[in-house]
Amino acid sequence: MRVETIVVGALQENTYLLIDDAARRAVLIDPGAEAPRLERALAASGATLEAIWLTHAHVDHVGAIAALKRAHDVPVYLHPADAPLYATAVQQGAMFGLDVEPPPPPDRALADGDVLRVGTLDFSVMHAPGHAPGHVVIHGHGVAFVGDCLFAGSVGRTDLPLSSGAALARSLDRIAALGDEVVVYPGHGPATTVGAERRHNPFLNGIARIAGGA
Ligand SMILES: [Zn+2]
Ligand SMILES: [Zn+2]
Repeated sequence: MRVETIVVGALQENTYLLIDDAARRAVLIDPGAEAPRLERALAASGATLEAIWLTHAHVDHVGAIAALKRAHDVPVYLHPADAPLYATAVQQGAMFGLDVEPPPPPDRALADGDVLRVGTLDFSVMHAPGHAPGHVVIHGHGVAFVGDCLFAGSVGRTDLPLSSGAALARSLDRIAALGDEVVVYPGHGPATTVGAERRHNPFLNGIARIAGGA
């Protein structure tokens, strides 16, 4: 298994190319912008794209889907609770001054406990609402793609439309229970581990909660 990080767009979003090298199959997680760069990374990997998996539907995570779907007949996976956000990707982009092509409708509905497969590798879906109502964490094989739930040293915003700080706190508890060794790939910024965040992140080690934070 191989994970490549491609930082894209004005909001510096992490698109992940997840590759099963043995099977030469790959998925793109949160293709947020700059489809040509994502295509080059995919071509360089030598793998065939199987699917697009979305942690959530904020515009910085979905902006390259339309272009990718023209080149690859692959399904887009999204939790249905984020459908209202997904449907407003263009308007979300306008708020940031971004010109975004509307993404075609999602093809598959994610649910808590689902198993996703790329090549021969299985990953589990955890519904992790809070930053967005249909946010999911995709985890397995010692890694977790956490989107904007959790960052190195911080957590996702909960002051956005459809966000919930209380829901995010519950989701962070479930992420923390994945195990200290699990490598965390967030939607922005560097990778980290559950253990490092449990020790140092004020939103996970209780300091910010006592202070009334997330
Ligand atoms: Zn977000
Ligand atoms: Zn984001």
